[in-house]
Amino acid sequence: SVKNAYAKRVAWYEDSMSEKLENEAKLLLEVKQALKNREFVPYWQPQCSTRTGRIVGLEALVRWQHPERGIVMPGAFIPVLERNGFIASLDLYVWDEVCRNLRSWIDRGNRPIPVSVNISRADLYAIDVVETLEDLVSTYGLDHRLLELEITESAYAEDRKMAEAVRQLKALGFTILMDDFGSGYSSLNMLKDITVDVLKIDMGFLNREDDTQRSESILEAVVSMARLMDLRIIAEGAETKEQVDFLQEIGCDYAQGYYFHRPMDTEQIEALLGQPNAVDFRGVLSPLMDL
Ligand code: C2E
Ligand code: MG
Ligand code: MG
Ligand code: MG
Repeated sequence: SVKNAYAKRVAWYEDSMSEKLENEAKLLLEVKQALKNREFVPYWQPQCSTRTGRIVGLEALVRWQHPERGIVMPGAFIPVLERNGFIASLDLYVWDEVCRNLRSWIDRGNRPIPVSVNISRADLYAIDVVETLEDLVSTYGLDHRLLELEITESAYAEDRKMAEAVRQLKALGFTILMDDFGSGYSSLNMLKDITVDVLKIDMGFLNREDDTQRSESILEAVVSMARLMDLRIIAEGAETKEQVDFLQEIGCDYAQGYYFHRPMDTEQIEALLGQPNAVDFRGVLSPLMDL
């Protein structure tokens, strides 16, 4: 009967819900243990000049080196941690690892380049993000310009608390990048009172099969608007030479994507940075020559 079928559906729904919750609870326990075992590592993906291909900065992207499952990508655990108020413990760990590596690169006599880390909206509700980041750079004795902060457009737009944190972080001397720009609903409206330094254009604009022409026009418009507003731009997800040529043509000076480099582990990035002329120390925001 209909009623029976309905009851079955509800029961199925409840089963799959509780299964999902059980899986999430299990994952959270695993993550807690994995943090203790130091199974999380930062991978590093270069941000490059579209003209020269030289590296101007890095983004730190977390990977879970699982003893049985191998490398686990952030998509498999970050959203769960965000939903459960747990992301801050991972981010604290990642930010610390990034600063520790920067310190060690400097101590070994290398000229440092800026590394950006990702900040989740949920971090704001678990820790004092501003104080934490300030403590980190001072503990490791780093210039504020070396630790750049990526905040997604949606977190910035949807939460006054995030906009306020950004204001304070900027006042302290941190550089702010708006991640996934253009993926939200209010991108243009938000630009009116924006206080960030760099827009990272969402990779959806470069990698669309359906309406390439239109995406390219939007990209071009965003680049010229950013120039008028004195904002720097990094295009995300540049995978082909054609895309990089196009970016260069429309005046987008920087890009991050597989065409240049995939995210890589610490040993690999150190080897890459050590190659002659790999790095352009002028950086996305220029005044790094004195570091
Ligand atoms: P995101 O911050 O927007 O990072 C860019 C993502 O695009 C990365 O995925 C990167 O590997 C990928 N990517 C880079 N170039 C290309 C390309 O040419 N083509 C394609 N298809 N993809 C490209 P990943 O590493 O899987 O990270 C996914 C997301 O997870 C990140 O997006 C970020 O939102 C989040 N995330 C990563 N690490 C952390 C972290 O330590 N903390 C927090 N809170 N979030 C993180
Ligand atoms: Mg990012
Ligand atoms: Mg400083
Ligand atoms: Mg992004």
